[in-house]
Amino acid sequence: MKCPKCGFDNPEDTLFCKKCDWRVDIPYVPERKTNASMYCAIALALGVIASALYFMKWYVFAAAVGAIGMVVGGYAINVPRLLNSDNKAVLVTIAGVGLILSMVGFMLGLYMAVL
Ligand SMILES: [Zn+2]
Repeated sequence: MKCPKCGFDNPEDTLFCKKCDWRVDIPYVPERKTNASMYCAIALALGVIASALYFMKWYVFAAAVGAIGMVVGGYAINVPRLLNSDNKAVLVTIAGVGLILSMVGFMLGLYMAVL
């Protein structure tokens, strides 16, 4: 598996490049850097909104926003892994918090809406 980012020749079963940590099955797109922070910010915002809606007792909306937040958060948490940026850990943390808040909003919202 030749790394699409740095060209390093990795063993066949490698998922992340031994040299630059790039996922070798994903094409290298340099301009993803800006998208990463954007998606992480959206994931966090959706998580906060989903939780807020739950506490405002708008359970159906909390579940809906939480569902979207989980999709965006699940994507956002993986995007920074594709980067070699210094704030990788910060972005993953932000996306992770957003993902957790979305899951909480979704599950609690759905639970309360169904009951
Ligand atoms: Zn590489």
